[in-house]
Amino acid sequence: MRVLLTGAAGFIGSHLAERLCARGDTVVGFDNFDRFYPRAIKERNLEALRGSHRFQLIEGDLCRRADVARTMIEKVDAVVHLAALAGVRPSIAEPARFWDVNVTGTLNLVEVCRARGVRRLVFASSSSVYGDGSEVPFRESDPCGRPLSPYAATKRSGELLAFNAHHLYGMDVTCLRFFTVYGPRQRPDLAIHRFAQLFASGQPIPMFGDGSSSRDYTWIDDIVDGVVAAIDQVKPGYRIYNLGGSRPTSLSELVDLLSSAMGKTPIIDRQPEQPGDMPRTLAEVSLAARELGYAPKVGITEGIPRFVKWFLTQPLPRPTP
Ligand code: NAD
Repeated sequence: MRVLLTGAAGFIGSHLAERLCARGDTVVGFDNFDRFYPRAIKERNLEALRGSHRFQLIEGDLCRRADVARTMIEKVDAVVHLAALAGVRPSIAEPARFWDVNVTGTLNLVEVCRARGVRRLVFASSSSVYGDGSEVPFRESDPCGRPLSPYAATKRSGELLAFNAHHLYGMDVTCLRFFTVYGPRQRPDLAIHRFAQLFASGQPIPMFGDGSSSRDYTWIDDIVDGVVAAIDQVKPGYRIYNLGGSRPTSLSELVDLLSSAMGKTPIIDRQPEQPGDMPRTLAEVSLAARELGYAPKVGITEGIPRFVKWFLTQPLPRPTP
């Protein structure tokens, strides 16, 4: 297959591109090396791919339709749309930029897909779309009409634009709601990576709330399995699936696991709950299990030491949290 993969230089995108190239697909990556975190990190993410004749990177911005059009000059069999600005707190700081990239950018992509007759679209959504009134475990049937942050609102809007693409232009669309993804190359702003940096530099770990908030952490290879299944087993119509680890871990448990993997005692800096944050996330994954064969394999007690092993191989200086 020839797959267009937006956000290929990022955390999840670079892992997915490697998996697709390794099994013989051709990947056209698209990325603008957004300044949200340093380009040098994204260049490192691409190191293995740069040597592959199956991988090509087109540098461009989703917000410029002409850039997006360049990615589909040759016909593609599927489009996997991962490029986005991610994160709840940064979206509260820059809501308009998040809207431009995540909503207008997604619309640009859909329009080019329509013009080029693309049949298959996989869209990276987020557990953040579950908002006010959503009960754990989160189910795909939840109305998701009350997002708690601009990021969540943009991801839900992306799902709705993707529905248009199905309804009006007949594309087969799968939206995948990822639940906090971690593993090698995890974005440096996310809790596990950020806490590891703070442990390593002997700085205090900010603990928002009393430590009882919980997240459903999902190992990167499990997410890649789910995305590959969505590409391969395209179901006719419009589908939404949760991709989570399906186990909750509290913030206190997470800090304890990191502390023992790093061999360091944490200095805790207690802070109030953050606006826009959800108190807990947990995925119901039975739909993805039934229809995609999704089965997460790596639990947090195995995943954290694996993450730390990777983290400790990273070149210094590490990005400042
Ligand atoms: P990431 O920031 O590492 O990757 C996103 C990539 O998109 C980056 O390389 C960035 O340069 C690129 N990008 C941003 N703006 C762009 C633009 N205007 N034009 C072209 N490229 C642009 O993030 P990630 O963690 O790999 O996330 C990938 C996707 O998965 C995102 O859509 C994110 O919202 C979603 N997601 C991630 C998580 C998670 O825990 N990591 C959870 C839920 C959803």
